[in-house]
Amino acid sequence: MSDAVTREFLLAFWKIHILHHAEEQGVYGHWMLEELHRHGYRLSPGTLYPLLARMARRGWIRAATPSRSREARIYRITPAGSEVLTRLRASLAELQYEVTPTAVRRTSRTARKSSAAGRRPRAAR
Ligand SMILES: [Zn+2]
Repeated sequence: MSDAVTREFLLAFWKIHILHHAEEQGVYGHWMLEELHRHGYRLSPGTLYPLLARMARRGWIRAATPSRSREARIYRITPAGSEVLTRLRASLAELQYEVTPTAVRRTSRTARKSSAAGRRPRAAR
């Protein structure tokens, strides 16, 4: 995590991605590393784990205490995290429409669905 683009932008993308999956089914470190890798991002555990801990400190995700000490810590989204995610989804939809309009038009059904709880993106009009 050394270059400016990573620090200034990608870090934020990864956090949104984490919130998304923490809402869906919960995430643990190793799974999230593989998931981000699948999306083309190669993070080291040394980048991801502090990021998860920071998000937990902010109260956006919460780790369930593993029943056995060797089990992975599963992070799930909190109500505060859900609020953040709803807000970010609306911003994302609007921004995506602005900066990649053709991509959003192709996926406008998805955008409509995901923005149901928030402000309607222009793509849905
Ligand atoms: Zn994903």
